[in-house]
Amino acid sequence: MRTRPFPKKWLTLIQRHIVFFHRLSASDRAELLGHIQVFLAEKRFEGCGGFAITDEVRVTIAAQACLLLLHRKTDYFPQLLTILVYPLSYMVEEKRQVGEHVWEEGTMNRLGETGRRMGSLVLSWGAVKHGAADPSDGKNVVLHEFAHQLDFENDAADGVPGLATREQQLAWTDVMRSEFASLRAADESGVPTLLDTYGATDPAEFFAVSVEAFFEQPHALRAHHPKLYAELRTYFQQDPVEFSAER
Ligand SMILES: [Zn+2]
Repeated sequence: MRTRPFPKKWLTLIQRHIVFFHRLSASDRAELLGHIQVFLAEKRFEGCGGFAITDEVRVTIAAQACLLLLHRKTDYFPQLLTILVYPLSYMVEEKRQVGEHVWEEGTMNRLGETGRRMGSLVLSWGAVKHGAADPSDGKNVVLHEFAHQLDFENDAADGVPGLATREQQLAWTDVMRSEFASLRAADESGVPTLLDTYGATDPAEFFAVSVEAFFEQPHALRAHHPKLYAELRTYFQQDPVEFSAER
């Protein structure tokens, strides 16, 4: 299926909406287009809240998700079947713990979510478009939610994706544990951080937030968190410093 020519209409949409696409090498662009074709053949899209799925929606989501697959042996997010898309943010009823015995109930606004047993991933189209248009503000809901899917590949939502060797697993755990602890400490003391402090929630969110920074602000991440950057570079087999639009 990857030998089929890439639809011209899709390519035009990618060139128009995916800013990072122009900065990739020619071979990475070709590889990405191949992944997008497989991704779009395999995944189902569903519009929610009256939203209509168009080619622009499918291609803009696929292009960003497939950036996470370049250079690696991949199974195309095997646990994911359906992508649900809302027009803007969507509301969920949520009960969350704010203290040892204190729970807060209310309606929360969300831009995206996925879960290990959901088989689906939810996105706000407004946030998806923004992520594609600004590749260096450190925020990208597609990279974030699909990073969670990579995390699920070894069956646990623990911030550890499928790593090839035991040695890699040990190095990863070591670096992530200490980086997570420092983000938590910075969050508690109110020190400004490069990484979104949402990553201080738990190791799974820490991984997803780190992936956003790795692709969107690689120079800064490499400068401030060299060990974290190195682990992500080894895992992704990519060096986003080479194609980053970060200034
Ligand atoms: Zn998350």
